[in-house]
Amino acid sequence: IEQTAYQNDKLAMLGKIAASIAHEIRNPLTSIRGFIQLLRPHLMTLGKEEYARIILDEIDRANDIIYEFLNSSKPTAPMAQIVTIESLLKEVMLLSESEAIMRGCQMHLEAYDAQAKVSIDVKQIKQVMLNIVKNALDAITELGGARSGRIDIVARKDGAFVEISVRDNGKGMDQSTMSRLFDPFFTTKQQGTGLGLSVSYRIIRNHGGTIRVSSRPGEGTEFKIYLPSVD
Ligand code: ADP
Repeated sequence: IEQTAYQNDKLAMLGKIAASIAHEIRNPLTSIRGFIQLLRPHLMTLGKEEYARIILDEIDRANDIIYEFLNSSKPTAPMAQIVTIESLLKEVMLLSESEAIMRGCQMHLEAYDAQAKVSIDVKQIKQVMLNIVKNALDAITELGGARSGRIDIVARKDGAFVEISVRDNGKGMDQSTMSRLFDPFFTTKQQGTGLGLSVSYRIIRNHGGTIRVSSRPGEGTEFKIYLPSVD
């Protein structure tokens, strides 16, 4: 089964909704934070200052989540930087290796044309790679140890593009999952947001690239990212 990502305007709308929700949630959080600060001396005399600490930490965590969500759904122009395939893959390895080890999964990276260059917003492309690798790890984990997990990342120059392939031997996808893969909020996971791939696709499109997916249910999935190469 093969599916190529298509343009989707839902994401622009999503960005607007996210911004207004974030704004509405931040205001009460700020006032809660202020009142907890005021209560702090009283909690201290009760020997319960620890509670204030926890509440403040949790409020800050909620704020961080809102901030990250806003950032991931806000369309931003890529801040271009020229990097080699080799250095990009090294970064990806650094980001994902510990997670892969934790889940008992092998990761192999290979770069042909290691010195080929792409012009990318490194932060954004790292986010894309991480989303895809995490999905691969989830797909392997969901097999419940039926076979040992393996992720292969291979990069090579392909004409005017650099192709980065991420292949897993996880649970794969059926046709109906495949057809909704890039829809904002589409998820098959209990804890999923369904944002990873829609955001990833938009980032790649902003770079003038594209994403292709092929998958076999029960066998595995391959994502191929194409980014314009720089000579
Ligand atoms: P989330 O990971 O939060 O569910 P994504 O947009 O990243 O959101 O992914 C959407 C859905 O696509 C996932 O819930 C899963 O069903 C499917 N998917 C993505 N990558 C893979 C993969 N490598 N193998 C199997 N299914 C995948």
